[in-house]
Amino acid sequence: MTSEPRDATDRREIAPVICYPTDDLPQPDMALYASALAGATVTDMVRVEPREAGCFTVPAGSFFRIRSVEGPQVGDLNLWSAAELSERFYSGKTRALHGTHVGLGDRLWSSFPTLRPMATLVEDSLSWYGQDAYGCRVHDVIGTRCDPYTGNLLSGTQYDNCCHSNLVRALASERELSPDVAEAHVHDVLNVFMCTGFSRDTGQYIMKASPVRPGDHLTLFAEIDLLGALSACPGGDCGAEHTSDVAPCFPLEVDILTPDDDALSGWMPPAPNGYDRSHGV
Ligand SMILES: [Zn+2]
Repeated sequence: MTSEPRDATDRREIAPVICYPTDDLPQPDMALYASALAGATVTDMVRVEPREAGCFTVPAGSFFRIRSVEGPQVGDLNLWSAAELSERFYSGKTRALHGTHVGLGDRLWSSFPTLRPMATLVEDSLSWYGQDAYGCRVHDVIGTRCDPYTGNLLSGTQYDNCCHSNLVRALASERELSPDVAEAHVHDVLNVFMCTGFSRDTGQYIMKASPVRPGDHLTLFAEIDLLGALSACPGGDCGAEHTSDVAPCFPLEVDILTPDDDALSGWMPPAPNGYDRSHGV
């Protein structure tokens, strides 16, 4: 530990500023989305078995709803452009723009160079939860995904049903890719229903039993044609541990909802980011 400079207190007392003020972000038309969702019908459903993952496709202008069924369960979500897997969900930039956890009206942003909204959160039955006494909230973009490499690093285990491997298998099967190729497309997730934060004393990533119960759901609007993959985390409600078969685990279901033909008049899929990519070269 280094000794403090004489002006340490002054330096600590400097007030922070928001890194990325979002006042100028194009705002989603939530009223339009709500009316489209109200008239939408379920046109497909994918069931994700415990400690497995499943893929689903969502046309731009449709919705997908992740539902808790049978018992409290956390889901790890990956999203890609259905047309180009290199355009994928960018949890880090989503975190920088919207905060550690996402809620109603927040977007899930895509990777560079497109950096555009892939999906918008339009319904969240856990929005009541807010922030608890531990500083925890639901639906984080701070975790990565449970994976066999970290399990091996910390415990020497060989465990194949982590969310990372579940997502690899699901994508490989969906797109007929080898596991190696599929793995390169798997990325940091939206932790659906997971209740997390940072410990105040050490700043470490913490989790607690999710408040999700059967019937709870999170609904997103697809801004572009999407391929999604959802893993039912081996941690179950993530109240104790993951990377093992110890925790009670439950399925998750994903509904695809198609709005009426004229329900989204005036809406257009977002264009790719406008930076010219010259990089000063
Ligand atoms: Zn997991």
